Amino acid sequence: MQQQSFESYVRHGLTPFFRLPVVDDGRITRERYQGCDAALLGVPYDGGTTYRSGARLAPYHVRRVSALVPGYHPTHRLEVFQRLSAVDCGNVMAPPFNPQAMRELVHAEVAAVLDAGSTPFVIGGDHSVSLPVLRALAERHGPVALVHIDAHFDCSVAENWGENFHHGTPVRNAVEEGLIAPGQLFQIGLRGPWGGESDAAIPEAFGAMHVPADELGTTGAATIARRIVERIGDRPVYLSIDIDAVDPAYAPGTGTPVPGGMTSRELLGLLRGLAGVRVCGCDVVEVTPMLDHADVTCLLAAYALYEGLALAAIARV
Ligand code: MN
Ligand code: MN
Repeated sequence: MQQQSFESYVRHGLTPFFRLPVVDDGRITRERYQGCDAALLGVPYDGGTTYRSGARLAPYHVRRVSALVPGYHPTHRLEVFQRLSAVDCGNVMAPPFNPQAMRELVHAEVAAVLDAGSTPFVIGGDHSVSLPVLRALAERHGPVALVHIDAHFDCSVAENWGENFHHGTPVRNAVEEGLIAPGQLFQIGLRGPWGGESDAAIPEAFGAMHVPADELGTTGAATIARRIVERIGDRPVYLSIDIDAVDPAYAPGTGTPVPGGMTSRELLGLLRGLAGVRVCGCDVVEVTPMLDHADVTCLLAAYALYEGLALAAIARV
């Protein structure tokens, strides 16, 4: 699917992701996604945030700035949007005050995407939107590999807030529900301080590979990516990109910032280094446009999403 030219994009004034074609059929059916390789779906939901909310607005702003992203990938030597038929499929209409309804709607929508043989690319929303995506993927593929790029483990226990599901729990929920294949959890960009020693207990017991932000800086994104690619092999892999993995200096527009993170160049380099894995889905979450400056976080989210699409385009070859 071709991007529209800048001229036609400016002429009609609509702002789909990456100037792509739009599906405007409101139904949740597999027919809606037939013939598209990659379905881009916004989930404007932030009812799972524990601190600063506002990620519900990210799909609108990432769409707007993604118009700047051209299609040709100079590292992979590939026209991403020619190789990959990608479509802006609009937003999941989740009531902002009902987390269970959000999970059911996202699950149903992503299941329809997968039924049509398409790959879901989800733009959150807070990180609680990833769990229903992983549920739909595991139903389709069995347990998947998860590359989880984040400052946080997202393995918070229900006792912390008296609530089993929020943006600090999707990885614990996914581990407990058997959605991740053993030995196939990769958490990159981690840093502290933690609430206590037990913060790492669940992912460590699960055998996760942990790459703190410091180690990414000293070892290098390309080397880390190579190790991950080797361990994943040909398993289907889900990429979950929490933008707070990146240092607040590069990504200030996020709800739970932690100093000492990776650079935007390291994030994009890490994603480029994953070339060859079988991407079965991807999300970019925790972008909070109202806390952003000069669109830097929204732009990074759009470029990270583009790298995910490029990986899917390579996997389609
Ligand atoms: Mn985070
Ligand atoms: Mn997260």
